[in-house]
Amino acid sequence: MTSTPRTAAVTKSVARLADGREMIYFDETSHEDRVLVDPRDLPKVIPGSQVRYDALLGEWVGIAGHRQTRTYHPPANACPLCPSSPTNQSEIPSPSYDVVVFENRFPSFAGTGDIAAVTDPAGWLFRTRPGTGRCEVVCFTSDHHALLSVLPRSRMRTVIEAWADRTAALSGQDGVEQVFCFENRGVEIGVTLAHPHGQIYGYPFATPKTAAAIRSAQQYRACTGGNLFGDLLAGEITDGSRIVAQNEHWVAFVPFAARWPVEVHLYPRIQVRDLTELGEDARDALAELYLDVIRRMEGLFEDSLPAITGVHQAPVHADPRDYWLHLEVLTIRRAEGKIKYLAGSESAMGAFVNDITPEVAAQRLRDVWVPGADHAGSVTR
Ligand SMILES: [Zn+2]
Repeated sequence: MTSTPRTAAVTKSVARLADGREMIYFDETSHEDRVLVDPRDLPKVIPGSQVRYDALLGEWVGIAGHRQTRTYHPPANACPLCPSSPTNQSEIPSPSYDVVVFENRFPSFAGTGDIAAVTDPAGWLFRTRPGTGRCEVVCFTSDHHALLSVLPRSRMRTVIEAWADRTAALSGQDGVEQVFCFENRGVEIGVTLAHPHGQIYGYPFATPKTAAAIRSAQQYRACTGGNLFGDLLAGEITDGSRIVAQNEHWVAFVPFAARWPVEVHLYPRIQVRDLTELGEDARDALAELYLDVIRRMEGLFEDSLPAITGVHQAPVHADPRDYWLHLEVLTIRRAEGKIKYLAGSESAMGAFVNDITPEVAAQRLRDVWVPGADHAGSVTR
């Protein structure tokens, strides 16, 4: 194991699991009880992913048939993301941790390679490539029953540090074209492990939504000379009706054409391509505003909040002029006891119909009182 101080607050240590997968601890405090050796006898998983090109839609699709045997709703006393104990040898050999990242045992994408190495024995219509890339798990806390939203801002800050660190690392890996940090939250979303955690995908292609946004931004720049993301952000600030919260470095708003019942986007005020380009102050401010937003979303419902948080970052080889880092936080809950499902129009046609007007959603979010949050400067409009 090697240790390197990352910032004044976080120390990064790298270790290996029994099957050779990499594990990285991001420590806020010293962990004298750290266990360096994974005692399990773990056979190596040989991923067999590939990506196939959908020639009709112009999109790559991951095909990962080896993932069907992955862990599915284990009981809490057998949680693979809890610290190891005498009765549960988990993925984390140590008896404690703050934030830890490790390679997914059942990755959708894995391995290195040339992302341009396309094969198509039939000519042009059936292009395939190896499913290179990397999939990682990010555990936010050793507390099985916590949520990221109830953890202190300092912990959210450490998670952002881990996201940025992994974005830099995966962006430098052959076979990765775009890095996506995200959290799926709630059984309604399809989460199979209850322990609070997120994931990081290093895709071997620019994802369909990102590619579409870049095409729009390029078109907009060609027509107007402006930056589409920046002009949208400026427009939201000027209009104000969809702003949820803001601080010195970030603005949170419900987008003009929101697809989900409650959907909030967080933009930095200054254009950066990904998390690695954010300064310390902007990372602190993101931790503050993100927690503010997710707590507001929780405050809308008595029910649980099935939610997705996604970090939209520029693909590795994208022109930095045509992208703008932002976060998207959405819930599929549309009312107490009711879920927005992706049915015919959304799933078959890709045409969303939102049951809640974005301006109404923003007003409801502004009206939520968030207990325990430090709102200094975060909710002024
Ligand atoms: Zn757990």
